[in-house]
Amino acid sequence: MQRFTLPRDIYFGENALDYLKELDGKKAVLVIGGGSMKRFGFVDKVLDNLKEAGLETKLIEGVEPDPSVDTVMKGAATMREFGPDWIVAMGGGSPIDAAKAMWTFYEHPEATFEDLTVPFSFPKLRQKAKFIAISSTSGTATEVTSFSVITDYKTGIKWPLADFEITPDVAILDPSIPQTMPPKLVAYTGMDALTHAIEAYVGTTHQPFTDALALDAIKLVFEYLPDSYKGDKKARETMHYAQCEAGMAFSNALLGIVHSLAHKTGAEFSTGHIPHGCANAIYLPYVIKFNEKADKTRYAAIGKFLGMKGTDEEIIDELVGKIRDYNKKLGIPHDLKEFGIKEDEFKEKVSEIATRAMDDACTPSNPRKVTPELFEKLLNNIYYGKEEIDY
Ligand code: FE
Repeated sequence: MQRFTLPRDIYFGENALDYLKELDGKKAVLVIGGGSMKRFGFVDKVLDNLKEAGLETKLIEGVEPDPSVDTVMKGAATMREFGPDWIVAMGGGSPIDAAKAMWTFYEHPEATFEDLTVPFSFPKLRQKAKFIAISSTSGTATEVTSFSVITDYKTGIKWPLADFEITPDVAILDPSIPQTMPPKLVAYTGMDALTHAIEAYVGTTHQPFTDALALDAIKLVFEYLPDSYKGDKKARETMHYAQCEAGMAFSNALLGIVHSLAHKTGAEFSTGHIPHGCANAIYLPYVIKFNEKADKTRYAAIGKFLGMKGTDEEIIDELVGKIRDYNKKLGIPHDLKEFGIKEDEFKEKVSEIATRAMDDACTPSNPRKVTPELFEKLLNNIYYGKEEIDY
């Protein structure tokens, strides 16, 4: 038996934030990150709308990028004190992810963080509050997914928490919010969305429902990402919906080793963080060439859906070429060397990264079975920009 779960409601389009004026309830907590949502006036707008609905409000602010267990526990304590029946989270991935975990500990103070690291074992939620997610970026799709990434800074481990209990009740996609993204963020988050859709489509746990969403998302990203990057308003709006479709797909069909490698390399090098979407964009073409050795049909089906013609091999090469073209247009490097990772440090860490990538939650659903040795070879290709995969 399989399961397909989405939020009960998705409000989208111009003035979608106005939905908040109609909420039934007594108290709402709003969880946000840093200053940008405040600066652009969206925090005031949300709070005003909630007040118009007759709700008492409280703000939990300052959720950091890569939110910590500490932040989650503090937020949950604030919620227990205030007693909201609505939890509203707004921002990029981090505040929404943190709020999902706060919600769990608000309703279940007896749970431990370790309990939640076991996938699909969450206690029942919605006894105290329902959850509304308002996404400000167009990539993670956490507004519709069953995932939350929380970092345990004591061990340095980034935990992907997963359970359909934390799939939000309501997602709000108001196109005015992603209009404020800087171009680089548009590029990275857009390529993250493309990776979600492709990995969900080719993965071993794909379903008919996720296939439909993934294919449409892939088509829309290819069609609208370049114009969205240039600042076109309509394209930016369409990308906000496309990434959401990709999220609906991967929340139910899971991901693959592009994500495993992005997770394990993101914070590894002394030269600085590799932004998640940028890492995915760099790795995706190499992983397609690697995975096609196990299964060509699914990647070829994507190409055919996009109108490509020829043998499966020719179609996959065209698809890979198209992704490389997009990376170039969006200012994304071809390989990790070009990104600026030092060769000595790469050589020193590559085998350790390869070993750890085996344990990543995204590895089991990858279409080709991997070993630490294969991961290491693949990472070498990705570092040196060697496109031919002969293993
Ligand atoms: Fe991602």
